[in-house]
Amino acid sequence: MSQKNLPEHLYISSKIPDKPAPDWTRFVCVSDTHNKVSLKTYNVPEGDVLIHSGDLTEVGKLDQIKTAVDWIKSLPHKYKIVIAGNHDTTLDKPFYEESWNRFHHDKEDADEAINMVRNAGHGIVYLEDESFTIPENGYQIYGSPYTPRFYDWAFNGDRGSFFNEKWSKIPPTTHILMTHGPPSGILDLVASGENAGCVDLLQRIQEIKPLIHVFGHIHEGYGVLEKKWETKNNDDIKSTIFINASSVTRRYKPQNNPIVFDLPPLN
Ligand code: 5GP
Ligand code: MN
Ligand code: MN
Ligand code: MN
Repeated sequence: MSQKNLPEHLYISSKIPDKPAPDWTRFVCVSDTHNKVSLKTYNVPEGDVLIHSGDLTEVGKLDQIKTAVDWIKSLPHKYKIVIAGNHDTTLDKPFYEESWNRFHHDKEDADEAINMVRNAGHGIVYLEDESFTIPENGYQIYGSPYTPRFYDWAFNGDRGSFFNEKWSKIPPTTHILMTHGPPSGILDLVASGENAGCVDLLQRIQEIKPLIHVFGHIHEGYGVLEKKWETKNNDDIKSTIFINASSVTRRYKPQNNPIVFDLPPLN
């Protein structure tokens, strides 16, 4: 994707200009790092807020959670907003208690995993169906780890009423939405030709029209898409920028750059 087709103040290349003004906020998006990245192997641009849209680990073992959290901690961003994904098995305690032996030889301590992420410090904010407002600028972020069931992994739910209810909890005031998976039809195309995204999520997004929606999960959908919503009077055109920030490819190679965007102060 070439820079000229991208929305303004959004960058996908490794060369990024300065913010338009110091009072803007720079957001840096990664996802699906799956323990395949490190400070040496994967360059994360500086910025004010890091966004990680889930699949922190290979399969949620404690040492994998620790490796992922230590990497995120070491990054310079003041806030690091993090959600889990279907691979982060120990962070979904009810699921893990029932299904741990499908993933791990020995049972790990789910409470310890959750504690490691929730109480990591260093600006890490873990969101599980909840909001965080950036104190300095009032941008409201909502994060959820849930994706439609696929081989029965963590934070999975059945398509339909489960997600209809789940997404109804996203506050309409949300500026930046973070989910692990994409909405249906948007950066969600898998190799088989199927659109794997969530239909109910698309429906909720059409109601809320957040400024930005960041997700990952479908690695091969990495990229950016801007959608302009039709409105009755043309002077009130709203758009949503969709970002699939998957850092690894379908073959779990960390070859996709973080995606960066700058937002002006809220008025
Ligand atoms: P992950 O296992 O890291 O969650 O997802 C890795 C890959 O599995 C994705 O890039 C995609 O190719 C495939 N995948 C994940 N979820 C789905 C799904 O719901 N449907 C289909 N067809 N493929 C999926
Ligand atoms: Mn997998
Ligand atoms: Mn993944
Ligand atoms: Mn995933």
